[in-house]
Amino acid sequence: MSFLVEPPALPVPQLHDEELAELNAEFERLPAPKIIQWAVDNYSPHLCMAASMQDAVLIDLATRVDPGIEVVFIDTGYHFPETLETVEVVRRRYGLNLRMMTVTPHAEELWKVDPESCCSAVKVGQLDRALAGKAAWMSGLRRDEAPSRAGTPIVARDLRGLVKINPLATWSDLDVQGYIADHDVPVNPLLRQGYTSIGCQPCTQPPVDPDDPRSGRWAGHGKTECGIHM
Ligand code: SF4
Repeated sequence: MSFLVEPPALPVPQLHDEELAELNAEFERLPAPKIIQWAVDNYSPHLCMAASMQDAVLIDLATRVDPGIEVVFIDTGYHFPETLETVEVVRRRYGLNLRMMTVTPHAEELWKVDPESCCSAVKVGQLDRALAGKAAWMSGLRRDEAPSRAGTPIVARDLRGLVKINPLATWSDLDVQGYIADHDVPVNPLLRQGYTSIGCQPCTQPPVDPDDPRSGRWAGHGKTECGIHM
């Protein structure tokens, strides 16, 4: 006799490949608030969004649709002080339903010797924890952020089988800057110091390739993504 109890099936639709293709075609023509509304209507309360705290554009948009949406921030223990300050500014500004995923500090600085394993243990592991029991999640991924992100879909299934929604996928850098100015959206102060993509402090520097805003991330390691968007 087994005492293992299966987790209850989530009462949300699974999306098949054809449905994803149809949604992506439709969403290419929709503004971000409509895409967020679709996500909230279909997946809340089994929905959250991940925030990097580079800026609060997606948070601003999402909290207009659902003020109580769960916002996940992974506190790796290696963030810039400016990023942690931005978390507080944004939390207060929007009264966020913020879920901080805090990592126990490593005994050694794994990022120095093996950044792939460090990201996998710290970022991917904490996101897996945050997404337990969820059916869908949103992120601020954009095609314009880097050549490696040019093919970002608006809606997809991630490796966990969850629905992943990128409402800003079609936004250009100018769209983001315009929205920030129009709505007085908080941004990470490092953006004014030459950083164009902000992650953990030991693995982030201003871009080394002016044509690739993410080229300051893990520079010299041949690594371009932390793994949470794979
Ligand atoms: S970005 Fe660097 S410090 Fe942060 S989790 Fe990845 S390897 Fe570790």
